Amino acid sequence: MEKFSFDLQARDGSARTGVISTPRGDIRTPAFMPVGTAATVKAMMPESVAATGADILLGNTYHLMLRPTAERIDRLGGLHKFMNWHKPILTDSGGFQVMSLADLRKLTEKGVTFKSHIDGSKHELTPERSMEIQKLLGSDIVMCFDECPALPADRDRIADSMRLSMRWAARSRDAFGDRPGHALFGIQQGGLEKDFREESAKALVDIGFDGYAVGGLAVGEGQEAMFGCLDFATDMLPVDRPRYLMGVGKPDDIVGAVARGIDMMDCVLPSRSGRTGQAFTRHGVVNIKNARHADDPRPLDEDCTCPACSNYSRAYLHHVFRSQEMISGMLLTWHNLHYFQELMAGMRGAIAAGTFDAWQAGFHAQRAQGDIEPL
Ligand SMILES: [Zn+2]
Repeated sequence: MEKFSFDLQARDGSARTGVISTPRGDIRTPAFMPVGTAATVKAMMPESVAATGADILLGNTYHLMLRPTAERIDRLGGLHKFMNWHKPILTDSGGFQVMSLADLRKLTEKGVTFKSHIDGSKHELTPERSMEIQKLLGSDIVMCFDECPALPADRDRIADSMRLSMRWAARSRDAFGDRPGHALFGIQQGGLEKDFREESAKALVDIGFDGYAVGGLAVGEGQEAMFGCLDFATDMLPVDRPRYLMGVGKPDDIVGAVARGIDMMDCVLPSRSGRTGQAFTRHGVVNIKNARHADDPRPLDEDCTCPACSNYSRAYLHHVFRSQEMISGMLLTWHNLHYFQELMAGMRGAIAAGTFDAWQAGFHAQRAQGDIEPL
């Protein structure tokens, strides 16, 4: 069986471009992963997600273990078959979402017990159970089970949490076992504290993983603090393995993270915003519900080749949003995912060409112009 591997092809400053190879297909990096929480990227057919240029999706262990359950998905042939997405899938460990969504959580050395936010049923997640669930789902890239405190938190709390996550990382590695063609990623923790990030990175490298995530960021610390942390945190991770920044982000967050050596990211923003009438464009965010679009026959972005921009006017997008028609979320989600993938493709090309600084200047200049003037 083809192995999981990472081929780093070019570097420009700290930014990198390459290809992650898996038996289910290649992932071009820097890569943006749309989020398919409940075995669907909301409002999108899987073939439409692929058409935007996505090489990989993210699935959520917490949601899928509760409904329809990992065991049922396994019986039905695994998550790829179940949701009709045959490219790579990365699953999170469930740890972060238990902490943010579940009721009556109880954290011990062994793991977390909690009540489902759906029906109140009681469940347990441990490193071993998280590895079992992600295996039942058939995930190509499996994440270690970890815990992360909301920021700000005091140093003792951050250190205790990080060290617990490192013990869980070792248990995750043991439970994952040897699965050719599948990858296990470790997750660096340590808040914004340089010494804890260093300690965490060393612990993970000692255990040994196929890739390394920077966890515990994008939890309310703000962009400046996040970039400040990435300035040192990314360099602590092995150069020859993919680096994944979890839960990021807005387009300018993504560009800044890539500039600091990140290879993979995921975020619900393009799909969630699509359903609330927000479109991401080269000129910044456009609120389609704004009355100024009501008579505007122009597309959202004249240079975008997505179906929403190729075939529909701002006036139509405004109308279907105001009328709460389903096509509104469908078209804006498609546009947003297309925009995010174009952004990644642009960065990959610029890094390969050694022109990433100029590309970044152009990115920021276009955004500074703002949206087109009203007619
Ligand atoms: Zn578009």
